[in-house]
Amino acid sequence: MKPSTDLNEALMERARRVIPGGVNSPVRAFKAVGGTPRFVKRAQGAYFWDANDQRYIDYIGSWGPMILGHGHPAVLEAVQKAATEGFSFGAPTEREVELAEEILSLVPSMEMVRLVSSGTEAGMTAIRLARGATGRSKIIKFEGCYHGHADALLVKAGSGLATFGNPTSAGVPPEVVQHTLVLEYNNLAQLEEAFALHGKEIAGLIIEPIAGNMNFVRATVEFTRRCRELCTEHGALLIYDEVMTGCRVALGSAQSVYAKHIPGFEPDITVMGKVIGGGMPLAAFGAKRTVMEHLAPLGSVYQAGTLSGNPVATACGLVTLREIKKPGFFEDLSLKTRSLVDGLKAAADAEGVPFSIDCEGGMFGFFLLPELPSNYTQVMKSDSARFNQLFHGLLDRGVYLAPALYEAGFVSAAHTDADISETVAAARDVFREMAPK
Ligand code: PMP
Repeated sequence: MKPSTDLNEALMERARRVIPGGVNSPVRAFKAVGGTPRFVKRAQGAYFWDANDQRYIDYIGSWGPMILGHGHPAVLEAVQKAATEGFSFGAPTEREVELAEEILSLVPSMEMVRLVSSGTEAGMTAIRLARGATGRSKIIKFEGCYHGHADALLVKAGSGLATFGNPTSAGVPPEVVQHTLVLEYNNLAQLEEAFALHGKEIAGLIIEPIAGNMNFVRATVEFTRRCRELCTEHGALLIYDEVMTGCRVALGSAQSVYAKHIPGFEPDITVMGKVIGGGMPLAAFGAKRTVMEHLAPLGSVYQAGTLSGNPVATACGLVTLREIKKPGFFEDLSLKTRSLVDGLKAAADAEGVPFSIDCEGGMFGFFLLPELPSNYTQVMKSDSARFNQLFHGLLDRGVYLAPALYEAGFVSAAHTDADISETVAAARDVFREMAPK
């Protein structure tokens, strides 16, 4: 299948000379899975084509944003029109107000929202806001959750409770993360103990409600309920990082999924990104008015951005949200994702490959493990060599999954039943190769 002249390889060689590791975001380098990254030439609907003009069914969709698929006509039209009207003004526009109104209508736990350019910026500022609003310093985060690469959040789990994190990255001084307490996801005992020990000093608890950065791991309803109760009891702010899950697992985001089980459930601060920008650099964070009024220019928590609320990005986000809120959109997307998930599970079962898989809305994740994991340690029990075999087997058959076993997958409205059948058939082929002989 591989062409005699691999243009991806040639591009990677060129890229390595001028860009560290050849990529502008590390996972793209295929370091975990080996082999050569595919350089994307163009994309349409559920597909992209690489430098060799090889077509792939795309289950990453820019790591989540492309919920409508690539090149959706309404999105193209809105973006082209916005571009002719001006790229960036550094002054307010009506479209920012419209997008803010649209986001708030979908996620009503927020009464005000501020638009920024990346999830990292949104997460970083949410933490600053929680600290500014409470006058406290400590933050709880969970092992395996990623909230962008702001210094204070780049913390690996310490082992066990009350171990304050060690920086995961060089260049982050230990003092910068000394207020970040890292706990095990879904571990109620650790959560209780952390609040018992540090309750009065905790500004906020940040969590991916359905974690998409250790593949796909749900917070249990009970864990979610206790996070909410303990934050309320101790005056800490519950921060939902919905950069990945926002308008992706449900129109109302993951918080609406949990609200079905916990009446009245709401986080205090919500961090959004990806889908709300439809593939353009756009993210947001929001909360109740009383919290958001701590932000400059009203309050003393500073945050700003030259390209914040960019007019082309807001046009893209706005039309994306208007498409996904059309009646039946999420039902269709969820059914499609469910049929992929059921098909993959049946294919693995048929070949006797231990496999577990879960999904919500248009997001899914699978493990080469007999049971779904509930925390990072369990996720890491996955056999990476076997994952790599599955990844490359599918890649060779024109199916593009995330190139690492700790990443989630995404289905778009553009994926057809035929795409899903092709994917399942390809997976069955690979499972057959992987099956115990
Ligand atoms: N939070 C979550 C849950 C994410 O998945 C990501 C990115 N994958 C971020 C924050 C950071 O967003 P960005 O890459 O736009 O900075």
